[in-house]
Amino acid sequence: MAEHLDVAILGAGFSGTMLAAHLLRSATRPLRLLLLDRRPQPGRGIAYGTECEHHVLNVPAGKMSALADNPDHFLRWLEARQIAAAAGDFMPRMLYGEYVAHNLREALGAVVPGTHFEFLNDEAVALEDDQPALLHLRSGRVLRAKQAVLALGNFPPADPRIEDDSFFRSERYIAHAWSNNAVSRIGNTDPLIMIGSGLTMLDLAVELDARGHRAPIQCLSRHGLKPQRHRPYEPWPPFLKAGDATSARDLLHRVRVEAALAMSQGKDWRAVIDSLRAQTPGIWKSLPLYEKRRFLRHVRPFWEVHRHRVAPHVADVIDRRMGAGLLEIFGGRLRALRETPTGAEAVYMPRRESKLRSLQGAFVVNCTGPEGDFRKLRHPLVDSLLEHGLARPDRLGMGLDVAADGALMDAWGEASSWLFTLGPLRKGALWETTAVPEIRVQAAELARRLLSS
Ligand SMILES: Cc1cc2nc3c(=O)[nH]c(=O)nc-3n(C[C@H](O)[C@H](O)[C@H](O)COP(=O)(O)OP(=O)(O)OC[C@H]3O[C@@H](n4cnc5c(N)ncnc54)[C@H](O)[C@@H]3O)c2cc1C
Repeated sequence: MAEHLDVAILGAGFSGTMLAAHLLRSATRPLRLLLLDRRPQPGRGIAYGTECEHHVLNVPAGKMSALADNPDHFLRWLEARQIAAAAGDFMPRMLYGEYVAHNLREALGAVVPGTHFEFLNDEAVALEDDQPALLHLRSGRVLRAKQAVLALGNFPPADPRIEDDSFFRSERYIAHAWSNNAVSRIGNTDPLIMIGSGLTMLDLAVELDARGHRAPIQCLSRHGLKPQRHRPYEPWPPFLKAGDATSARDLLHRVRVEAALAMSQGKDWRAVIDSLRAQTPGIWKSLPLYEKRRFLRHVRPFWEVHRHRVAPHVADVIDRRMGAGLLEIFGGRLRALRETPTGAEAVYMPRRESKLRSLQGAFVVNCTGPEGDFRKLRHPLVDSLLEHGLARPDRLGMGLDVAADGALMDAWGEASSWLFTLGPLRKGALWETTAVPEIRVQAAELARRLLSS
């Protein structure tokens, strides 16, 4: 492999792998391309790297094509493997990881002669703007790249905010629900406290349930909400566009009115929420910064549980456990976590109450979901970019500041000519940028952008 690269893609989850596939497929001259990940295989990332067959996609198969211009591509891939699936089915995420990797293999089968491609299992720890840029890897290897793309995806959750953080060093604390090692410590009779009641909590509860876990799980989140279940629906026409809503309150009001109208006509509120999807980045961009902040503070929890829904099979498991008293969700603000003689305790202030209560369990699992605020995270590569002024956090603390084409904004607000990103890191700018239907479009567009320079 040449040590001088045209493009280095840092991160090989869905975003990085599909970007590599588009670059290989669309290049008209030989490319020197590196795809790098801390994980051993491309195409998986956090979402599709799970080894649990009960972790299913939260988007139906018919909407999960990796190629925006070929909507049935995933369904056809399943069919070719004689895997029975209808467009409305929710397939295992590990299977989807195989599909993403297949896209890369297929692209590699038809490259321009002279193309060099390497997938490297290593970690990028620093980038220097030295034209071509210097890329430092954990292994000590140093490469040069004309262009680099951060496809770093979802970061692990940050520890919950409490005054005394000594509990985070306890054996009773599981900091990362996605870590297989951590979860294997949980026994089937261990009662659990989970901080967070969103998709991460549901994933873990479903995995433990399938494994035979039958002890109570108590979940704590600010509002005590859990994601709604998917149901098939008839589409609803888009009713909002950029600039129509000028405040978070106005936006919420319009969505509520439209949902009530749809339901009065026998339609499903889900259709109303999903009708906004294509317009969401435009609506988001048109809101003033302080209204975005208000949305995040007041509306986000409600938006998340209606927008990011779960497969019916997952909702069934959760409903069954709740019915049997094996899963409870509490709304309130976490105040303290501490060890007890038998395990751990979470002290919280319930919503609209003034007396503290506590939950008891064998372990506390942090299920608060991916963190995007770099002030709370330690990521050597991003730290180095911030330190050298090659990137800056977006003003909402959800990712990095980017231009419309995904170019990173440097510390002085200049769009980079060689450093780009796609996927979850663009959340501050686009809001709707974390799932396949959006990222597949970004991957194709960014490939065109990179090949044009
Ligand atoms: C549990 C879960 C389930 C989901 N389910 C769905 C779903 O069903 N449908 C859907 O559309 N979306 C789903 N999503 C949304 C998901 O964000 C996208 O679908 C997509 O997987 C994002 O891919 P990504 O490559 O941007 O990020 P990731 O999957 O997070 O991949 C980023 C990769 O970058 C690597 N990396 C990070 N830093 C470095 C470094 N310094 N050096 C080298 N490598 C590095 C990581 O190891 C990782 O493999 C889910 C997300 C999660 C977390």
